[in-house]
Amino acid sequence: PPQINEDFSAIVGWADEVRRLGVRANADTYEDATKARELGAEGIGLCRTEHMFMAADRLPAVRDMILAETAEDRAEALERILPMQQQDFEGIFTAMKGLPVTVRLLDPPLHEFLPDLVEQSLLVQRLELTGGDADEIAAARQLLGQVKRLHEQNPMLGTRGCRLAMLYPEIPEMQTRAIIRAALAVREREGETAGVEIMIPLVAYSSELKAQREIVERAVAEELEATGEQLDVTVGTMIELPRAAIVADQIAEHADFFSFGTNDLTQTGIGISRDDAEGGFLSAYVADEVIPKNPFESIDRDGVGGLVRLGAEGGRRTKPELKLGVCGEHGGDPASIAFFEELGLTYVSCSPFRVPIARFAAARAVLDAKK
Ligand code: PEP
Ligand code: MG
Repeated sequence: PPQINEDFSAIVGWADEVRRLGVRANADTYEDATKARELGAEGIGLCRTEHMFMAADRLPAVRDMILAETAEDRAEALERILPMQQQDFEGIFTAMKGLPVTVRLLDPPLHEFLPDLVEQSLLVQRLELTGGDADEIAAARQLLGQVKRLHEQNPMLGTRGCRLAMLYPEIPEMQTRAIIRAALAVREREGETAGVEIMIPLVAYSSELKAQREIVERAVAEELEATGEQLDVTVGTMIELPRAAIVADQIAEHADFFSFGTNDLTQTGIGISRDDAEGGFLSAYVADEVIPKNPFESIDRDGVGGLVRLGAEGGRRTKPELKLGVCGEHGGDPASIAFFEELGLTYVSCSPFRVPIARFAAARAVLDAKK
């Protein structure tokens, strides 16, 4: 990791005098947020909330929430999760007090949360063959049935993003309550909290954002009413599907901000699997430069970049002052940052260690544009 000394700070400070783009960081822990702030991040542009549940002690609660077959079971699981969520957000809001934090509601590729179907089938078979305990076999079979019900052929195009939240509105409601409670607790304790921005993932239709926004706003209003407190909360969306970019003018009617998810926009815009581009057979296609450049590393200006442009133009047609960020990997790539500067976006958000690079690149883009 880079050492932050006075010389370094002075040099990046010069870049800050020149750049126009804001620079935020992607972080979902107190530690990463603190590091990002030290490196000059002006806020968190993407706080993902799914990683928080991958830890071994939390995974069971999320599985119970997703696998629940009745509303009561789901409510019970959500009640267990809420305090954990609140604790996570308190850490991040404390680290970032005085600066904006965009919390993205759950974006679950289901396969990452569910026990593997094959593994579960094998477990049932093994228990049956070895004449395992009858209760154990029954429990394993029941879980297999539940997993089968939710198994998807293409999880990355399945019940991801706001789709799970549309089916189970209790999930975004719980997350919103945790966010508001955390922000109020931090303000009470520290005298100041972070600016709260709530972001809805993988929106394709304006009706999805409208519905999710209503759920979020209702939960915010109830939390504030219960405490008699005031808090400014804005609600926006990721633009990470081609359809969203195309109908951005409609989506903007329900959005206070857009954040371009260039990872998914690349995946769905070119039709190249993100996960497979990094390893395996498909990676040879991207790495061997059969196509001009790895589109997951640097924005494909002619293609996916065109979708970003379309989304920005559509959004601004509806709301000229709409805040426009980028939170995909491209937000930390200098060539892509130059492109986002050309489009006049508001900020880029990248991993904490890329923040100084992004600050330089944003300044460079301004200087190059003057040439
Ligand atoms: C994206 O798709 O660009 C994004 C930032 O979201 P995620 O990487 O979490 O899918
Ligand atoms: Mg995404």
